[in-house]
Amino acid sequence: MKAITVEPKKPGSARYEDFPEPDVREGSVLVEAVAVGVCGTDVEIVEGKYGWAPPGKTRLVLGHESLGRVIDPGPSSSFKAGDLVVGIVRRPDPVPCPNCAVGEWDMCTNGQYTERGIKEIHGFMSEHWRSEPEYLIKVDPSLGILGVLLEPMTVITKAIEQVFLAGQRAYWEPKTVLVTGAGPIGLLAALRFSVRALQVHVLDRAETGLKPDLVRALGATYHTGRISDLDFDPDIIVECTGVGAVIADSIKKIGSGGIICLTGIGAGGTGAGAVADVAAAVVLKNNLIVGSVNANKRHWYRAGQNLIHSDPAWLSRLITRREKPENFKTALERQPDDVKTIIQFSDV
Ligand SMILES: [Zn+2]
Repeated sequence: MKAITVEPKKPGSARYEDFPEPDVREGSVLVEAVAVGVCGTDVEIVEGKYGWAPPGKTRLVLGHESLGRVIDPGPSSSFKAGDLVVGIVRRPDPVPCPNCAVGEWDMCTNGQYTERGIKEIHGFMSEHWRSEPEYLIKVDPSLGILGVLLEPMTVITKAIEQVFLAGQRAYWEPKTVLVTGAGPIGLLAALRFSVRALQVHVLDRAETGLKPDLVRALGATYHTGRISDLDFDPDIIVECTGVGAVIADSIKKIGSGGIICLTGIGAGGTGAGAVADVAAAVVLKNNLIVGSVNANKRHWYRAGQNLIHSDPAWLSRLITRREKPENFKTALERQPDDVKTIIQFSDV
């Protein structure tokens, strides 16, 4: 079979190549790839900045935002041939830490978790892949290709859960939410907040085009420019850019008792001199900053439900580019109007 593979930490090593069929030890369910979404993590791995091959191997199959079709459900699963499925990304660490022991591997405390297509387990950018049945989520057939958005939806399903769990620390009646960054995660955040009784605002650099259109289609308000120029102090900010200046501005702008959820991952920023100023703003307004990454099985299940209850026409506009596997390098190059690019292996 063919697969998109990379030698982690070696820039320029990615290629679309012949690769052995997945070993039955990788899972009893055999799946045919339909599509795999690409994201910033894939770009970082291909640039040699991140990623780990499986133990004893030099190359890693890339890809963690999957959608596939069951070919062989194996001897012990409730799946049927033809079922659409998505593979869960993270696996608990082998120790396991207390969080992994109770199935909350997204909160792993010892860092020895593994992740498909990222850390020590092959990903989903291969014509065939395998999984244990307990790490597969069945996708409602009505979703079709939109099932490829399930993994990004898990990220925001967990982040929003974290925000409302954290909000229970005090009496809290949030009315306004600001989402910074109108990429796939930011837009899915806006979608999920728009179904609650909240005023939703999204801020991004794009002045025109699809991003403002998608935000306004949700009944939300679109902003460009500086956070400090907004004429309201948000009760919730979901930060999806990872840009230091945007994070610092978010912390200064959040309303009293507000909660900031950081989901973006960047580097560098505004320097240590600003940290005490930022911390003072947090102290004086009782603010809470919560980081959120990955998702556990509860979030994967809920994310599937969230997709089913969303407008499919709006969701389909998030998929802005479909590339063939042999053109994966083009897929990974960011273009101005991209929201979510997918690599399509077969028809849904
Ligand atoms: Zn753990």
